[in-house]
Amino acid sequence: MHELSIVSSIVDSVTESLAAYPGARVKEVRLRVGVLASVVEDSLQFCYGIATEDTPLAGSALIVKSLPIVAFCSKCNTEVELPGVQSFRCPLCDEPVSGLRQGRELEIESIEIEEV
Ligand SMILES: [Zn+2]
Repeated sequence: MHELSIVSSIVDSVTESLAAYPGARVKEVRLRVGVLASVVEDSLQFCYGIATEDTPLAGSALIVKSLPIVAFCSKCNTEVELPGVQSFRCPLCDEPVSGLRQGRELEIESIEIEEV
């Protein structure tokens, strides 16, 4: 499952960051996920519960922040937020947008830990 491999890599990188805080436990992990990252939040949450068992992340909350698609419109010379994944046209002038500026993110925004 796509989400399980994503969650495994999150667990790995959080565990790595925790090395500097022996005995600390994770309370909360915040993710930034672009809508083009093709991640289903329910699956992500489900996999998170499984993948964090017996790790310092066990019982922590996973908070997923969804990021809309932002593209650059060369006609308007500005960045525009697209309303959905169906259309890659500028909502202002209806021209096809050129560059994608946001929407494929899949990254850890912050980790909250509890030191023992
Ligand atoms: Zn435009």
